Amino acid sequence: MRISYSAYDTYRNCPLKYKFQNIDQLKVPKSKEAVFGSTLHETMKFIHTPGILSPTLDQAMEHFSNSWNPAVFDSPDEERAAFSQGVKIIQDYFEKNNPADFNIVNLESRFQIEIGRDDDKHIISGIIDRIDRTKDGFEIIDYKTTKKMPTQEKVDNDIQLSVYLKAFLSNYPKEIENLDKIKVSLYFLKHGVKLSATRTLEQLKQSEQLFLDTIKLIESSEFEPTMSPLCDWCGYQNRCPMWKHKFKELRHIDTDEVNSAISEYIDLKSAMNITKDRLGKLQENILNYMDQEGVERVFGPQGVIAKTLRKTYKYDEKKLREVLEPLNHWEDILKIDGIALRNILGVLPFSARKEIEKAKVVDKETKSLSVKKK
Ligand code: SF4
Repeated sequence: MRISYSAYDTYRNCPLKYKFQNIDQLKVPKSKEAVFGSTLHETMKFIHTPGILSPTLDQAMEHFSNSWNPAVFDSPDEERAAFSQGVKIIQDYFEKNNPADFNIVNLESRFQIEIGRDDDKHIISGIIDRIDRTKDGFEIIDYKTTKKMPTQEKVDNDIQLSVYLKAFLSNYPKEIENLDKIKVSLYFLKHGVKLSATRTLEQLKQSEQLFLDTIKLIESSEFEPTMSPLCDWCGYQNRCPMWKHKFKELRHIDTDEVNSAISEYIDLKSAMNITKDRLGKLQENILNYMDQEGVERVFGPQGVIAKTLRKTYKYDEKKLREVLEPLNHWEDILKIDGIALRNILGVLPFSARKEIEKAKVVDKETKSLSVKKK
């Protein structure tokens, strides 16, 4: 299979979006966020393109302004806010970085690398924003225009940076001896912060395996929608089963009957929640009264309420085992505790986590409805 890093990333975020984009090849206009990101990437490329003199801040601003596309924004106010944000990002970048200080090796370099072995070989492609030569090695940099910054731990394990490092090593194979001197960095332009890490050979192997695992899922046609805040920027909402009902008017479908069912369901659910809260409060008052009066039952015009005491027990594991093991029944009562398993997953070695993931099968499926009120 041939897969770009960005397609892999799309699959990790939402398999259905991957299908729409890469298998069905449905074209949607670029979102304004994507256009904003591309303009900033182009400007960064302009700033660092090697020449006799590095561009000044004014020249960078001019370049940004000339590449600007106001047509993608919904209103003049929104467009103005985005433009000002871009200007601030470039100013901030120049305050923290002098373009003349960097020894640029490559900008926006395209790569194709092979992963896997024997009959399970695949090609990954992508574009590395920037490669610098540093005092004692190299630095691979990817610019991000996301609002949210990840933790350092996430950067330490980021697959994209590992793939980029592998691509770099395919061009500079000798540098594998100096892995600790090759920095991999994500530069968060909106925050003016760069987070860096290095990689070990073991980490490179692990990220290749994770990539291969994802390719297996794609090949087995697993394309479930995964909702996340990224849905807000997804151009496929009007096709996605999680969202397309929202666009029902555009599809001219008669929805009167289901609309009234939806309204009634939400109203009843709200009433149930109010009733549940009220019942809890009344129960507390009545129990307090019973304790004060020393009674176990109270009488009202509509009926009698009795106090019941329900006890739950737990067993001493050691003693229980001593009794059941000689009778060959100990194994019968050991059941997998999903919550306990999740709690220990984080501390297990990578290979064990992978094996556990493979052991996961669907036990049963039940359908239910959840309500999110406007
Ligand atoms: S709207 Fe959300 S869930 Fe649907 S395809 Fe897009 S990203 Fe996936």
